[in-house]
Amino acid sequence: MDVMESGVKQLIRLTTASGKQLRCSRDHAILTPDGWRKAGELAVGDSVMSGGTAVRPSEALVPPSLRRGIGVWTSMQRKRLIDELDLCYLCSRTFPREALELDHVVPVSLDLGRALDEENLAPACEPCRAEKGATEQGLAERGGKVALAKADLVVSVVDDGEEMTYDLAVEGPWHNFLADGIVVHNSYNEESGRYRELQPVFYVPGGERRLVQQGRPGKYEFVEGTPEQHKVVTEAMEASYRQSYEQYQAMLAAGVAREVARAVLPVGLFSSMYATCNARSLMHFLSLRTKDERATVPSFPQREIEMVAEKMEAEWAKLMPLTHAAFNAHGRVAP
Ligand SMILES: [Zn+2]
Repeated sequence: MDVMESGVKQLIRLTTASGKQLRCSRDHAILTPDGWRKAGELAVGDSVMSGGTAVRPSEALVPPSLRRGIGVWTSMQRKRLIDELDLCYLCSRTFPREALELDHVVPVSLDLGRALDEENLAPACEPCRAEKGATEQGLAERGGKVALAKADLVVSVVDDGEEMTYDLAVEGPWHNFLADGIVVHNSYNEESGRYRELQPVFYVPGGERRLVQQGRPGKYEFVEGTPEQHKVVTEAMEASYRQSYEQYQAMLAAGVAREVARAVLPVGLFSSMYATCNARSLMHFLSLRTKDERATVPSFPQREIEMVAEKMEAEWAKLMPLTHAAFNAHGRVAP
């Protein structure tokens, strides 16, 4: 999570029927039953989504005999639904089939109707299944409630002075958090192209980037490309980048808004972002996004994110050499 100053702004204070109060700028996005809306557009009588809890369906609703039956059916689908080498949907690591079990993404105790639904089954490794099970157990024990957002009527909107405001950046894909109990949007501060003209810096793979994928899904490897393949990649990308950036600039020159014009820019455009994390999260990221022979659990990251991860690791190793050495000595597994 990150905090950024976003200038002195006019603030308003919203009060809801359940007694929650939120002080924020008029342009801040707030979740309502109809989707995201700006705080300044909300009036008395509108609803916002606020955080609350609901009673967790009891484990006792699923009798042990039924649970066993579901377990037997689930293990029978294993061979069909898990490839010989497959990904754990929770940690994205690759495992042989024997190390994976099918997991109910929506737990059986939460929705019995999805117990025999193939779409609700995904391969998970044993440590991830144990962790997920313990988390669910912990939630059930803490009062048997689940967190959810509920509609809450706005009962008053008043101006509340002017002061320096801040934005918080939260890890994707959720981009929202509770501010004083109300669901608000955050800014994940990747350069977005809405506020600033994007610069023409594009990615062209270097000569060492392996270009050719061989094998079937779940079991493939990358091998060197031929000089001809490297040539066609470089030429095609450069021509496409030039063309799309020219069109982008033509639209800006014609007065078209940046947030509209940016749609022509390709994914090969470099982007910058700020993100913060602690050493433990960084180790987790590195264990997934680098390939290293010291790793107890192998990872197969896309080369491009691995190049970023390698640079991050080099900086971190300078800052925390002992922690970095311990990470390597323990099979590059995050504690
Ligand atoms: Zn896993």
